[in-house]
Amino acid sequence: MTSDIGFQAALEEARKGAAEGGVPIGAALVSADGRILGRGHNMRIQKGSAIIHAEISALDNAGRLPASEYKGATMYTTLSPCDMCTGACLLYKVMRVVIGENKTFVGGEEYLKSRGVELEVLDNTECKELMAKFIREKPSEW
Ligand SMILES: [Zn+2]
Repeated sequence: MTSDIGFQAALEEARKGAAEGGVPIGAALVSADGRILGRGHNMRIQKGSAIIHAEISALDNAGRLPASEYKGATMYTTLSPCDMCTGACLLYKVMRVVIGENKTFVGGEEYLKSRGVELEVLDNTECKELMAKFIREKPSEW
């Protein structure tokens, strides 16, 4: 599934975040029929933001959509979603969450499963390496 357009978009976003000196986490929201609705990356450092995680950024960049657009959507994220982003996925009734890696951090995966969301963990090497490099270089930011 790593050739998936949604995952590739999320990974590109994580790389952008890294290039900006930010937390290298990217996300993309993909509709049931395979269109990228929104994509984005963590902007915590770039914007001094407490809430602009990658998944929130992707949802925000998608704009305000009719409920039908979110129906059956998949959230791709390069790192296991935190409690806030888990909640956002549930709020927008995302059906499936594809996670680049969950070795660096495990978020609300059990809760998502308990709420009937399908999860897939890719255990992607580049996602892990981006995080490892960031934590090594900026331990106080993680
Ligand atoms: Zn989050």
